[in-house]
Formats: sequence, structure tokens, C-alpha cells
Amino acid sequence: MLRIDLDRLRRAGRTRLDADIPPGDPFWGDLDVFPRAPLAVRLEAQQAGEDVVVRGEMRGTFTMACRRCLEPVAVKIEEEIGLLYREGEQEEDGEVLSLPEKGTELDLGDPIREHVLLAVPRFVNCREDCKGLCPQCGIDRNKGTCACTEEETDDRWAPLRRLKKDA
Ligand SMILES: [Zn+2]
Ligand SMILES: [Zn+2]
Repeated sequence: MLRIDLDRLRRAGRTRLDADIPPGDPFWGDLDVFPRAPLAVRLEAQQAGEDVVVRGEMRGTFTMACRRCLEPVAVKIEEEIGLLYREGEQEEDGEVLSLPEKGTELDLGDPIREHVLLAVPRFVNCREDCKGLCPQCGIDRNKGTCACTEEETDDRWAPLRRLKKDA
């Protein structure tokens, strides 16, 4: 899906590559993210001498679990993409990517997946003041209260709790 025909690009000088990658598409493979809408990828590839420059952006929405209460949260990402491909072996983990030695097709799947992983936050909260789950009975404190006492909580945090109350 995210492939560029290098012969055609060389002839035309530039080419657009637009894709909407739905959840469930093989593109996602075993990436540990949960898209809830198609990932919109809008790119333009340009021949620059022997190099290929790919620029554009992607937008998507992912489902994540709130770090405190585990409720699902929709997380939007919007990322600019800039890739530079050059002939020959390139440094691993470097900024410059290698053009394929054989064939005339450039597959952008891996770098786009990498951008997704970097763009999706590691943690989210459903809201700033999410009260989370009761560590003792597991009730969602946003939705209800429980009779658990706080006695068993770690007292090292007591001064911090007091600070927060005063704030
Ligand atoms: Zn929450
Ligand atoms: Zn409880």
C-alpha cells in the first residue's frame, strides 16, 4: 500500500502517495497500537539527484487505556514525516535510509510504522483529574465510592497528599 514505483518517480520527478490504512490492515502487523479509524497518510516523493525525498504527514486516532482507571481513551496523533533515501548501505539508526538494491519499489511501511510508534504516547489519562481505581477493591473511583479505608496506603505519600489538598 505504501509503495513507490522508483522508475516512475525518476521519470516524473515527483509523485504523490496517499493512503488511508484501516484498522485490521496487514500494515499494522504486530504493532502494539489499536487504531480506531483509518490512518491517513499524505506524502509526496521527490527525486533529488540520486536521492529520494519523501515529505508529508499522517493523522490517526488510536484507542488507549487510561493509565489510572483503564477506561478506553481516544488519542489523536498528527505527525509530519520527512524521509531521505540514498543509494548504498546507510548507517543503521541513522537519518538516511537505504534505497533498495534490487527492484524498483520503495516500501515505506517500516518507517511509517516507526513514526506511528513514536507519535503514540506511552501513557494517557482519560482526564486530568481521573481518580483511578481503588487499589484495594478495584472500584472505579470516577464512578463510585467504596468503603475501603486509606489506612493501608503508604504513608510516605501523606505529606504530598496534604500539599495537594492545600493547593
Ligand atoms: Zn481514567
Ligand atoms: Zn475500595
